Amino acid sequence: MSTQLKTTMDWIKGRVKETAYFHSEHMVRYLTQRLFSIEEIESVLLDGKILEIHSHPLRNDCYLILGYSYNKPIHVMCTKDKNGNLIILYAYLPANPTWKDEKTRTQSKGQTMDGNLKKCFFCNSEIEPITVGNFDFRWEGDLYVIKGVPAGLCVQCGEKYISADASKKIVAKIEQEDFTGKDEVLIFEYKG
Ligand SMILES: [Zn+2]
Repeated sequence: MSTQLKTTMDWIKGRVKETAYFHSEHMVRYLTQRLFSIEEIESVLLDGKILEIHSHPLRNDCYLILGYSYNKPIHVMCTKDKNGNLIILYAYLPANPTWKDEKTRTQSKGQTMDGNLKKCFFCNSEIEPITVGNFDFRWEGDLYVIKGVPAGLCVQCGEKYISADASKKIVAKIEQEDFTGKDEVLIFEYKG
C-alpha cells in the first residue's frame, strides 16, 4: 500500500475507533434490514484495505474498502467529505457477475449507449429490470405503498432505479388519490 493510501486508511480507522463517522441513508437501510451489522462494517474498516479509489469531478474521492467478517468478504464504500467527515456510503457482499472474487472485477459486458440504464451509479455494477412488489415511502405521516412498479435493480448493491415516466405516473396517481387502503396506509396499483 502506498504511503497516501496508508495515511487514508489510518485516518478511516481512527474515525471508526472514535465512532466519529456518519452513515448514508443507504447504509441505515442496510443496517435496519439486517443485511449487515454495525460491528461487521466497523471491523471491515478497522482491518480492511483500500481496494479501489473512485474519483469524481464534483465529489471527493470515494474509497472501496475490502475487509472480512468471519472470513466473509465485505466491500464498504466510504468518503471524506469537504468538512473532513468520514461518511460510510454503502456496503455489499462482492459476488458474481460483478466480482470474480473479492479482489477482482469480472470483465464488463460492455456498455451500450441506447439510453437504457446499464450501470449502477453507486457501485458500477450491472442493472437488471425487475418489478418491485411493494415500493414504499413515507410522506407527511402517511405510508404510501405502490405495487408492481417497473424498476432497475443493481445486482451487486441492491440500489433501485425508477424511470422518469414511472415516477411521473406514481406522482400522478398520488395527486389523483387513486388508491385503496385506509388510515395511514395508502395502496396504489402501478398498473391501471
Ligand atoms: Zn450498485
